[in-house]
Amino acid sequence: MEERQGACSPFCLFGAAAVLLLLFGAGCGSGVGSGAGGGAATEERPPVGADQGPGSEGRTAVLELDVQVYLLHSDESAALTTTLAAADVARVFEGVNQVWSQAGIRWRAAEPVRVEAPTIGALFEEVLNEAGSGRLGLVASILPPERISEGWDVFFIRDLDGLAGGVYLEGISAVVQPEVNPWGIRDLEGDLVRILSHELGHALSLPHVDCPPAGNLMAPACRSGIRTYLTDAQIERARNQAVSGRPHGSDG
Ligand SMILES: [Zn+2]
Repeated sequence: MEERQGACSPFCLFGAAAVLLLLFGAGCGSGVGSGAGGGAATEERPPVGADQGPGSEGRTAVLELDVQVYLLHSDESAALTTTLAAADVARVFEGVNQVWSQAGIRWRAAEPVRVEAPTIGALFEEVLNEAGSGRLGLVASILPPERISEGWDVFFIRDLDGLAGGVYLEGISAVVQPEVNPWGIRDLEGDLVRILSHELGHALSLPHVDCPPAGNLMAPACRSGIRTYLTDAQIERARNQAVSGRPHGSDG
């Protein structure tokens, strides 16, 4: 689902245009696909291993994308403080790269950098305990602005308290990725790999799609099947974005 930021809260440091692209996991069947734009084809490919298929000479070159990785810490908020270590991050990106190998895309994750969240940790905790999706307006504010680059950035936190599996902030082209899934479970090699791969799909301009029988990485409503699968059209679109050298939605 896509959620457009409306009225700007005092915490909205990055402007009202920031668009949140969310993955709710199994609980978000309703409304899925309602903002899916063109380009997300329904054509299907068989599950992909290393096979790149015929007639795809442009896909033979592996595209390597540098991604900056940050581990957030906040004295005021356990939810903002990831417990992931560098070795965990490396493992997660191994899995992410397995998923994205079907597109000939490789994420080259930099050594994670531990950073302090802005001093809104207590407020973040408070807001997490309130009801309503408006809480997501706070997400952009938990990132240290000086760390946000024009390239691919991933910020790990501990927990979004079920708000979302992960968030891609289109306006600043950054992924905010809780280490636990929406049910509070830390599943590094399962849900975390899949959800981060999904959010990076948004960063490569892929919108949500409905869930086809084979499953799809960009279909949040998929509860079975191959949930990391991409169609030819999705792969082409993602590679085009990768070749541009900029995440989707970034300026310039
Ligand atoms: Zn999504």
